[in-house]
Amino acid sequence: MSLIENRGLIETHSLTETRAAIGPPHRHVSLRADSDMLPSVAEMVKTLHPSEPLHCIRPAAISAAARNFAAAFNGDVLYAVKCNPEPAVLRALWEGGIRHFDCASISEVTLVRRLFPGAHIHFMHPVKSRPAIAEAWVLHGVRDFVLDSFSELDKIMAEITASALDRPGLFIRIALPETGAVINLSKKFGTDFATAIALLRAARPLAGRLGVAFHAGSQCLDPLAWRDAIALAGEVILAAGVRVDVLDVGGGFPAAYPDMDPPPLGAFMAEIDAAYDRLNMPGLRLWAEPGRALVAGGGSVVVQVQLRRDNMLYINDGVYGALADAGALKFRFPTRLLHSRHSAGAPDASFGFFGPSCDSLDVMNGPFILPDDVAEGDWIEIGQLGAYGTCLRTAFNGFDRATLVEVSDRAMLEGPVSEPQP
Ligand SMILES: *Cc1c(COP(=O)(O)O)cnc(C)c1O
Repeated sequence: MSLIENRGLIETHSLTETRAAIGPPHRHVSLRADSDMLPSVAEMVKTLHPSEPLHCIRPAAISAAARNFAAAFNGDVLYAVKCNPEPAVLRALWEGGIRHFDCASISEVTLVRRLFPGAHIHFMHPVKSRPAIAEAWVLHGVRDFVLDSFSELDKIMAEITASALDRPGLFIRIALPETGAVINLSKKFGTDFATAIALLRAARPLAGRLGVAFHAGSQCLDPLAWRDAIALAGEVILAAGVRVDVLDVGGGFPAAYPDMDPPPLGAFMAEIDAAYDRLNMPGLRLWAEPGRALVAGGGSVVVQVQLRRDNMLYINDGVYGALADAGALKFRFPTRLLHSRHSAGAPDASFGFFGPSCDSLDVMNGPFILPDDVAEGDWIEIGQLGAYGTCLRTAFNGFDRATLVEVSDRAMLEGPVSEPQP
């Protein structure tokens, strides 16, 4: 099928849309039909013969992950929008009961407000521009702001128009010691113990509600990281000697990948509940800001093999596309071969991928497991890419086209979120 025919098909097909990739996600208007009627990934590949990356969103898997997380967590669940701001994803989360959104930029705030006029939006980036603070407060009704410095506290108070009846929510982000997460976030953000105490005392009289927040680091596989972080937050609160209304235990909840099999979600929640009980601070409300755990299983990308050289496959997406984490971070993603021709069913073998750009850094060593007879023209579905996949694409080298579809498939790997403990 030629690209032109392909386009025509997409325009008339109510479930799909082509876009010039790097446009901000809020330009996307999904024409999603009833999710019962969505096609499977295999059906979409058969129909479209995609020669450009096909981004597949699984709304049912995302809604289910959101419901499971909310059922297991004893507090408010804020979705961290940066993880996947695709409107189809946000709608699936809303469908799954998510009403709170953790935004880090004014574009994310605007996007969420446009999609969901009734959403609760929280501005949880510790370093914000002045116009972003002012616009969030005045135009979008945002009242909660995180900070980790006196400079940011001054900035927020100068840019908003607080009154006795309308005070901001102020959240002090504390840094954590090493948690063993794949991606540490405490080197960039978070205050030390003494500054946190001083900030809590300074913010209390200014705040409608006062919170302490932390982030255990992304893809944190150790439930005890939350036990230790909550205990540390408790020490800070006690030492400050002021009333604190909210403890925000952040994101970082892990998803399943072929070489990372996290404990079930219930193990994380049990540590959080026990640590919360030990604080003995009745009236302290819990928040969480999961990103990856809600959406990783809800997205995959179908790529096409353009050349096979031994066990290296040259594919049409790479580290400047949706596969950034397969490069520098060496994430292994689950893979499934969709043959372009009849195949006898070969035994599995290990493969590495080269992305489409001319850059030799555009390499993903995996190993990725695929049938040994994979050949030029075949399609490969790369799974667990709902988090930090589509949103990290660039236009580098002109490989910025992608088609977005919503599909009915289950997640390729069951993560801990899909199996909450009773
Ligand atoms: C990125 C981020 C999250 C989400 O992290 P995940 O590891 O995807 O759960 C939550 N809160 C803040 C402040 C973040 O920066």
